[in-house]
Formats: sequence, structure tokens, C-alpha cells
Amino acid sequence: MTTLSPLLKQATPVVVDRALGSWIYGTDGSTYLDFTSGIGVTSTGHCHPAVVAAAREQTGRIIHAQYTTVMHKPLLELTQKLGDVLPAALDSVFYATSGSEAVEASIRLARMATGRPNIIAFHGGFHGRTVAAASLTTAGTKFRAGFSPLMGGVHIAPFPYAFRYGWDVDTAVDFALKELDYLLQTISSPADTAGFIIEPVLGDGGYLPTPPRFLEGLRERADRHGIVLILDEVQAGFGRTGKFWGHQFSSITPDILITAKGLASGFPISAIAASSALMSKGWAGSQGGTYGGNAVAAAAAVATIGVVQDENLVENARVRGNQLRVGLDRLALDNALIGDVRGLGLMQGIEFVTDAGEPNGALAGAVQQAAVAENLLLLTCGSAGNVIRMIPALIVSAEEIETGLERFSGALRAAQR
Ligand code: PMP
Repeated sequence: MTTLSPLLKQATPVVVDRALGSWIYGTDGSTYLDFTSGIGVTSTGHCHPAVVAAAREQTGRIIHAQYTTVMHKPLLELTQKLGDVLPAALDSVFYATSGSEAVEASIRLARMATGRPNIIAFHGGFHGRTVAAASLTTAGTKFRAGFSPLMGGVHIAPFPYAFRYGWDVDTAVDFALKELDYLLQTISSPADTAGFIIEPVLGDGGYLPTPPRFLEGLRERADRHGIVLILDEVQAGFGRTGKFWGHQFSSITPDILITAKGLASGFPISAIAASSALMSKGWAGSQGGTYGGNAVAAAAAVATIGVVQDENLVENARVRGNQLRVGLDRLALDNALIGDVRGLGLMQGIEFVTDAGEPNGALAGAVQQAAVAENLLLLTCGSAGNVIRMIPALIVSAEEIETGLERFSGALRAAQR
């Protein structure tokens, strides 16, 4: 008998029958409020009627056109639609299937455009599981241990993780920028450095917003040294933070922006955007792939952007995110083992600590499990698994946020009993 591999770590025992909006219905008749959104993917909620209709319609026309063989209408439409939401300077895009592939593609592009080998990533970052993406990933050793040798030419600089050091944000930013300059002086000279890659909010690394001044410091150094600044918006992009892109809390524009997850409400597609000038530094045929820009996924992405615009979902993420945050801050006041609550919009993290202030992965894990018993689906993150992350769909209602907070409060009590 074939069974599922033990290499997969199953977060919940739920077997889903169907799902709608913020709700998942199990095959055993149980109902769950979903604050995982398939790891931040189902931006418009599960099975939004507009997305379902677009995918159904497209499936009847052509499923797989292979866009470097024959172009198809959904991808032309998507390219146009992305023009509405991307920073104006990033006027050229191509497509892949997953976040990891988009990360890989961005590294190829940065190397081609600069003719330089090295990439600097930031400690705690998560960029995917393929070998190049895993080389840039330092959100936990489970993503790297035993996989060496990983891709060469990667250097990791400190991330301004203020809470970890007990610093204020400004001190953490000053420290991280100084260390980056030191790295550029001593290990990876600017002449050898093709790109910086960073998430606007560290995702799997612990739901830590990247301070705007840090992004601005990276932008300044990238400009000064001709280094390509890559923003990995795979998890934080597409309205999740309460702005369309997570980097828009700062004044910067990246050189390359990559997006996936929320882009198509669950269909696998990712996009890599840059200026035409940067793209034209590479050569035709250097990017592509069999499934990239799939027609059904592209149609779903067009519908997703339409829903995000028509239903004002970026604004909803901001307002509902604030509501969630107020509730979480209130819970943290009464709970000494909640060390930190942070995040942007509907991307909120709750970091658990021990009495001694050390990372408390055991408690975060217990809360996540207790939440399942309260019919609330949550995920953990952070290098010690000590952060609960809440990633509701962008369509989440005020009532659903309140229900989520009540159930989370119940799970906190149960886990600490
Ligand atoms: N980058 C970020 C910021 C991510 O959060 C993820 C997925 N968690 C990835 C890249 C990799 O995406 P995928 O799993 O689709 O390959």
C-alpha cells in the first residue's frame, strides 16, 4: 500500500472536502475558520465565484498553451493587468509556476544583468526549497541541513531583528546596515555582488516587517554600487500587508519584484517584474519553463486582480489587519509568554517566549494544535517554530476576525493549562 512520505510535516489532521471564503469543511463534517489561507495563497478566499468562473471558462478553451510556444489571451491580459498594480518602473514581466522558481529566475536575471556572481540575502529569510532558493534561505536549518553543497556565491547579512536582541528598531537597523557595509568591504566586494534579495516582511523566518529605513539603506547601497535590489514579495505582496506591495511602506522601488502565492488565489503561477532596461541585459531563451504562465492559472490571476480591485481588498486587509492586531495586543497584555506581536495588515505574528525570555517553540506548537481543537487553523513560523502566524484571506470579515480572536484565546488557555 502506498502511503504519504514521512518527509512531509503535516500541520493538522484535517482532510478537506470543500472550502468557501474563510471556511474549510472537513470530510468528517467539521468546519474550520482558516487563518492559514494555504500559506498566504487564497487571497480572495477559497473558491471565490469570479475566480472559479474564470478558471472554468478557460479550462474549456485551452488548459496548457505553453507561452513560449504559443501565446495565449489570459497571459496577455494578465500582463496588462499587472501594469495597473506594479510600480511603473517595472514595465516588463515573465512568468513561472512557483515562488521558488521565480526566486531562481530573479537570481539568473541579476547575474546576467550585472555579470557578477554573488548574492547577498538576509538572516531569517525564506526564499524557497529548490537548491538555489534554499541557498538564500536561513529561516531554519530544516530548510538546509543535509542538502549541501548548496549554490555558491551566497552571503548572508544580519536582518534587523530588534526583538531578538532587545533593541529598538533604529539600533537594529544601524547595526544591520553597518554589518552589510562590513560584508561589502571584507567578503563580497561590490564588484562581485550581483544582487540583494529580501522579503518586505520576513515570512517563514518569523513575520518580521523589514523596517523601511533598512530597505532605504539597501536601495542607497544598490544604487551606489550597481547592485540589483530584488524584493521577494511572494508572501507579503498582493495586498496582504494593507498596501498592494509590502515594500510600499518605504520610499523605495526595487529593481526586480517577484510575486506568486496570492496572485492567482491558489492556481500555481508566479511573476518576475523588472524594467525593460534591466530585462534587456539578459538574452532571449535564458528564462522559461514548461508550465510557467499556465493559461488557467493566468485566467485565475486576471480574475483575482479584478476581485482585489473591485472589492477593495487591499483596504480590507488594512482595516481587518488593524482589528486583528488590536485584539492580539490585548491578549498579549494578559499573557507574559507572548513576547511580541507584530506584522502588517493581515500578516500578523505572535512570538512566544519562555519565562526566561527565550524562544518558546513548544508553546507555539501547542497553541497551534489547540487551535485545531477550537476549529481555527493556524501555522507556526520562526527559526525556533516559536511564532504563530495569522494569514486570513483578504476577504475576511469583521465577524470572522472576532471569531478567530475568540478561538485563539481559547487555544491559548488550553495550551497553557
Ligand atoms: N519566497 C517567499 C517569501 C515565500 O514565503 C515562499 C513560500 N513560503 C517562497 C519564496 C517559495 O515559494 P514556493 O513554495 O511557491 O516555491
